[in-house]
Amino acid sequence: MTIMFNKDRPVQPGPTEGNLRVRFTGLNAGYSGRPVLHQLTARITALTMTALVGPNGSGKSTLLGVLAGVIEATSGQLRYAEGHPPAFVPQRGAVGDTLPLTVRQTVEMGRWGERGPWRRLTRQDRTVVDTAMERLAVADLAARQLGELSGGQRQRVLIAQGVAQQSDLLLLDEPTTGLDPESRERIAALLTELVTDGTTVIQATHDLDAARAADSCLLLSNGRLVGQGSPDQVLTTTALARIWQTA
Ligand code: ADP
Repeated sequence: MTIMFNKDRPVQPGPTEGNLRVRFTGLNAGYSGRPVLHQLTARITALTMTALVGPNGSGKSTLLGVLAGVIEATSGQLRYAEGHPPAFVPQRGAVGDTLPLTVRQTVEMGRWGERGPWRRLTRQDRTVVDTAMERLAVADLAARQLGELSGGQRQRVLIAQGVAQQSDLLLLDEPTTGLDPESRERIAALLTELVTDGTTVIQATHDLDAARAADSCLLLSNGRLVGQGSPDQVLTTTALARIWQTA
């Protein structure tokens, strides 16, 4: 099998894939001694919102980790069109509530990829951080501790950290899970705005409303892609019932 990764090398789009942002073919990945993703093949169009849908344990986070470059695929092809490296917003639960960090410090960490950890930020970095905080409506929380915030506020801070990375490809793991309906809607609206303004967004989600609002869905079951296309095509009652029954 061909093993070819081009995570870091921009790939010039060919004539038939001018608007593709990410493409993967026959992708396999997992953890030591534990294969999780099997032969995934999909194309992600630039400037769209893609929802990764599937039951717990179906491989959504693992796929995001591979796309983010945090988990190495064992085989297959993964190609990115020209652009910035992806920005990854991990699950809220994966970020310690008790970390002694302010909102501003958390968003500033989004600049570390450019600047290096704990390095002094430039004036331009600080402007990027301010803009990201304003964008996500957390600027007035800048001096607050992360652990004091509501779930919705904390999620917006984490998305602001992703936005501060200034990537045109944003990957999010369950950004609306466990939030109240108002916070969910607010985050959904912000993500839609980011797409309109030039970002390709891929989010793993349990939230069927969020998935239905996406441009396209990838449906995972037991580490395999069992559906891809528009929400109407993919999120049929039959497909969902079958997958959740066998989960
Ligand atoms: P989802 O995001 O859809 O809930 P995950 O990608 O988190 O699914 O998990 C897919 C499978 O990989 C699960 O069976 C899970 O137990 C396993 N898994 C996840 N993380 C690890 C890890 N760090 N080490 C070993 N197995 C893992």
